[in-house]
Amino acid sequence: MIETSSFFDIQKTETSRISQVDFTKLDFGRVFSDHMFLMEFEDGAWQRGKIEPYGPFTMSPASMVFHYGQAIFEGMKAYKTGNGEVSLFRPGMNIARFNKSAHRMCMPEVPEDLFMEALAKLVDLDKDWVPSDAESSLYIRPFMIATDSYVGVRASEKYAFSIFMCPVGAYYKGNVRVKVERKYTRATPGGTGYAKAAGNYAGSLYPSKLAREEGYDQLLWTDAIHHEYIEESGTMNAMFVIDGVLVSPATSDTILEGVTRDSVIQLAQDLQIPVEIRRLSITELRSGLESGKVKEAFGVGTAATITPISEIGIDGINYPVAHADSANSIANTLLQELDGIRRGKREDHHGWNIPI
Ligand SMILES: *Cc1c(COP(=O)(O)O)cnc(C)c1O
Repeated sequence: MIETSSFFDIQKTETSRISQVDFTKLDFGRVFSDHMFLMEFEDGAWQRGKIEPYGPFTMSPASMVFHYGQAIFEGMKAYKTGNGEVSLFRPGMNIARFNKSAHRMCMPEVPEDLFMEALAKLVDLDKDWVPSDAESSLYIRPFMIATDSYVGVRASEKYAFSIFMCPVGAYYKGNVRVKVERKYTRATPGGTGYAKAAGNYAGSLYPSKLAREEGYDQLLWTDAIHHEYIEESGTMNAMFVIDGVLVSPATSDTILEGVTRDSVIQLAQDLQIPVEIRRLSITELRSGLESGKVKEAFGVGTAATITPISEIGIDGINYPVAHADSANSIANTLLQELDGIRRGKREDHHGWNIPI
């Protein structure tokens, strides 16, 4: 059946795969919903897009994305709110960030209204794929790749923009142990760290693998110049509770501007929790862990929401984080608030939920 919108056509699947999915045993990102969105850019303009059954692309081996890595992505979620409705959480922030990433990578921006309509139609079409139990949601992955068949190095003239979706369970199960990275760098001043550019993640795999071999779950990245100031935790923004104050580094060209980070800071302010956006050195972190002033550490991001850090390895010494497991930790208070809003159980004072 073909339906139309002003920007794209809709071709529905004739055979839904939903009955093959065990929604009680969802992993992260292995199961894909019935439909995807696809739109191509050529001759200097976005062409008419399409929602169609989820399936593979056919591409030239010379497609520029395979060689020079011109690729960006986003990650956002749809939730079932109390009355069975489905809401997107702050999608406008993801759309704006996607276009900021596109600009940095010399890729065309996607008009906001078109992006929003594609998201809304796709989620609406596959709304039965939005899981309803406590830790689950529908993860949405918009992305753009360079598709010109050309082997010279320059910005591609053709692109594909696509969105697909995965019903997901929890990302990390429980707390994580992190290692402070003193040698490798995720992002450099003047680089692409603020963009969700594919290459940033490829470059982070090797140092992360080394950390896992040492028994850690992920890295606490430090700045590229001194390897002394904390930047991010894996692919999440980093937060600490020091003397009752929520401390988080400022976003910059090396620290990605997380939607979860922004939301958590706003909720902390709403709850009268003091917040400081400032640099945090490893020296301060170490002495705070030794003295017990650093009571909590956690990563915040869409995939994992809030992940408590239970142990931090600094130059070969592991420091436990005191309140990682406490039910009345600030991290847990903020998680309950944020999760409550996203699932329609707490009042959405800021108008963050966009019902589909
Ligand atoms: C996506 C991402 C985050 C978290 O951003 P959210 O919008 O909260 O999901 C943080 N750091 C990096 C490097 C990221 O890629």
